[in-house]
Amino acid sequence: IKKIGVLTSGGDSPGMNAAIRAVVRAGLSSGIEVFGIHDGYLGLHQDRIEKLERYSVSDVINRGGTFLGSARFPAFKEESVRREAIENLKRHAIDALVVVGGDGSYMGAKKLTEMGYPCIGLPGTIDNDIAGTDYTIGFDTALNVIIDAIDRLRDTSSSHKRISVVEVMGRHCGDLAMSAAVAGGAEFVVVPEQPFDKESLLSQIEAGVARGKRHALVVICEHVTDVNALAKEIESRTELETRATILGHIQRGGSPTARDRILASRMGAYAVELLLAGHGGRCVGLQHNELVHHDIIDCIENMKRPFNQELFDLSAKLF
Ligand code: ATP
Repeated sequence: IKKIGVLTSGGDSPGMNAAIRAVVRAGLSSGIEVFGIHDGYLGLHQDRIEKLERYSVSDVINRGGTFLGSARFPAFKEESVRREAIENLKRHAIDALVVVGGDGSYMGAKKLTEMGYPCIGLPGTIDNDIAGTDYTIGFDTALNVIIDAIDRLRDTSSSHKRISVVEVMGRHCGDLAMSAAVAGGAEFVVVPEQPFDKESLLSQIEAGVARGKRHALVVICEHVTDVNALAKEIESRTELETRATILGHIQRGGSPTARDRILASRMGAYAVELLLAGHGGRCVGLQHNELVHHDIIDCIENMKRPFNQELFDLSAKLF
């Protein structure tokens, strides 16, 4: 291996820059040339590939988003498009590719690997919805953004005796919601992995209000239910003003936390190590604080993220 490429794909996440930086600097330290590909698989197909130097990644470790850019490029599902992308890589004599992204991006990396082009996947998404790793790059930063918002809502809601329903991201994974509920001291958490028992939520909030609580907080993962309608129902049941707040893309931005920067740096350097050791078609994870790698095909086809039942139960116990 003499030359490797790196790209970021799908939804951006804080810490992607730190991952790119680590790939570049670990690569250069090992005598490998590193090429940055702009806007994910789209830029790969359009041959927007540039050589990165040590200084190309100066001053990016603290920046959110991804300086290489990211894109959704559904056409990459077509084999002919992927073949053209591989041709571009071969023209630059790039031997292998590091892909930082979510499960969709892993899918692209898996397909390239199946076509004989070795890829390493790094889990870059705030959703924490990737198998084979306890944490994804960006999750911790997004969680801290959510906690900051929840703390602010708590201040104003308890002053006004108001109930807050907060919708957080996570797609089909409740990790952000559960972690935010525990760290933010929420009364109730709703996650996609568990059936949503609206009646239980309503009666629990009602009981809290009857005990004299000045404020109640419900954290709910996106795509489960209409949070504005839910707020209306809570309001009519408790007769307390209830507001829904959809945090949205705020959660994806901002300077990465130290934890995300370290995770991204470790994973980026590990990806280079794996390629140097002759591994391809792997995805990197952190399990029990150890870096691990799994077969990317097996990861997508067979591995499932375990549901964090303990965290879910804890949020109910501490309410
Ligand atoms: P996030 O979950 O944070 O949004 P993601 O990586 O899952 O990130 P997607 O939009 O699902 O985001 O995927 C990113 C890109 O990966 C797609 O736009 C496409 O270029 C490529 N991709 C997704 N699925 C496939 C597939 N089945 N085959 C080939 N390429 C794919």
